[in-house]
Amino acid sequence: MAVPQNKITKSRRGQRRSHDALVAGNPQECSNCGELKRPHHVCAACGHYGDREIVAAADEIDIDEDAA
Ligand SMILES: [Zn+2]
Repeated sequence: MAVPQNKITKSRRGQRRSHDALVAGNPQECSNCGELKRPHHVCAACGHYGDREIVAAADEIDIDEDAA
């Protein structure tokens, strides 16, 4: 089994980990509803992408419960 030849000091370990931080996203306002959304993704709040509705919102779908 490979074994490290030298100890990684707290300093070196910390220097390596200085690049490990997660960066915050870059949320932008939805052009339809104004909710913050991920760029280049369908809006989770209203289902719009650009000027088109891609995914219908759950409360907008007519489900006939008597049909089944
Ligand atoms: Zn939206």
